Amino acid sequence: MPGEVDTDEYGDVWVFIEQHDGEAAKVSWELLAKGRKLADEKGERLVALVMGEDVTHLAEEAITRGADEVLVVEDPIFEPYVPGPYGEQFRILVEERKPDVVLIGGSHTGRDFAGRVAVPTYAGLTADCTELEIEPDTGLLLAKRPTFGGDAMATIKCVDHRPQMATVRPGVFDAAEPDPDREGTITDIECGVDEDDVHSRILDRVVGDITDITDAEVIVAGGFGTEGDFGPIEELAAVLDGEVAATREAVEEGWIEAARQVGQTGKTVKPDLYIAAGISGAIQHLEGMNDSKTIVAINDDPNAPIFDDADFGIVGDLFEILPQLTDAIRAHKEGEA
Ligand code: FAD
Repeated sequence: MPGEVDTDEYGDVWVFIEQHDGEAAKVSWELLAKGRKLADEKGERLVALVMGEDVTHLAEEAITRGADEVLVVEDPIFEPYVPGPYGEQFRILVEERKPDVVLIGGSHTGRDFAGRVAVPTYAGLTADCTELEIEPDTGLLLAKRPTFGGDAMATIKCVDHRPQMATVRPGVFDAAEPDPDREGTITDIECGVDEDDVHSRILDRVVGDITDITDAEVIVAGGFGTEGDFGPIEELAAVLDGEVAATREAVEEGWIEAARQVGQTGKTVKPDLYIAAGISGAIQHLEGMNDSKTIVAINDDPNAPIFDDADFGIVGDLFEILPQLTDAIRAHKEGEA
């Protein structure tokens, strides 16, 4: 079979440290924490890979967060991000150094270039995993992800090809606290990408809503039941110092930015409090929020499936209930002040 390899030649768990303007994407630290566990179970080293300009501080942070070694490739060709140079440099390193497992954030960036590594190296790439484990008998990566529109879970393993690659969306795993006493090696790598490999350039950047709802402790989410009026959702979110989120239905209607979509094809969130208003509770939405500590559902249909997953349910019209909640919380806060 093309690309079949001697799997014994491959070792180490790699994590790609995604960065923009010198700031690491949170998902990279989440993957590093997971990668540490996987590497320990396999008895292998954890290696982080950073590309960009002036990124040594990220290499140092990666060591405090669990990496044994950090490969650093610094060159202006990597800024700002375009997929060609990232994919090409990653491919070169994979072919030279033969990692066993490669983890990449399932962000726009990670999804964009992961295939550019997997295809030329014939690697097995499982996208949007929600769990990663090591098979005890074989040491193979078990990459788990929802399938059939979220109705079933698939476990995918890659037996004959290397590396075993997986992407994981932000918010699925928890990051570890940095340990400033941890020690590791930083290895500078010469950039192997030629200007001729760059086929696209960023001419202009327009930044839309880039709020990261995955960090929010309180989320008030609205669905199709809002009929496009997110006013009551925004007011409740404001009084609770929370973030506004939405279902795919609301995003597709153009009522709210895609950055705020929760679910299988949106963000995975785990706030302390998730208030779902006018949301039916489709499996694809639940997948992105059912690890929230407390779920409150407001729906005028007593049979809406969201109530099965909610800790507290209110049957009624969101346009009546949300303003009452907002007023009550505001009054309570003013009473405390
Ligand atoms: P609806 O299902 O239409 O529900 C609206 C709810 O509002 C109803 O329960 C209704 O009773 C209630 N309601 C109406 N008026 C009021 C009122 N005045 N007061 C109170 N309640 C009211 N969906 C996501 O959210 N995120 C995803 O990431 C996602 N990914 C998907 C991926 C795939 C491959 C597929 C096939 C689907 C995906 N979906 C996703 C879509 C998902 O299947 C549902 O269609 C969607 O979540 C439904 O959104 P909703 O709950 O806003 O709308």
